[in-house]
Amino acid sequence: MSRTLEQNKDQSTLTPQEWAQCLIYFDGACAYCGCTTKKGQRLTKDHLKPLSEGGATAAHNVVPACGRCNQAKGATDFRDWMMSQDNFSQERLNRVYRWRAIMVQLPAQDK
Ligand SMILES: [Zn+2]
Repeated sequence: MSRTLEQNKDQSTLTPQEWAQCLIYFDGACAYCGCTTKKGQRLTKDHLKPLSEGGATAAHNVVPACGRCNQAKGATDFRDWMMSQDNFSQERLNRVYRWRAIMVQLPAQDK
């Protein structure tokens, strides 16, 4: 098959269980701004490393983000983007790092 170059679409290894775990880890709040969503709104799955940069839809690369952050961040590096925000919180950034570190260590179904 033509699985070439940076085109990694539909390479999702994120399970519903992992996503649920992710939401719990981040207290059901946006990983970037810490806002909690109102009823009816859902947190989106945001890629730490954008898909366009070769990032995977895997637990270690996905965090919950509110629609506003997801849109605003776009394909920007999450560190740069978070640090550029008025409401930047080192604690939240560390939490993202920790999530990624935890999930990277777990045996994933991918690879
Ligand atoms: Zn947000």
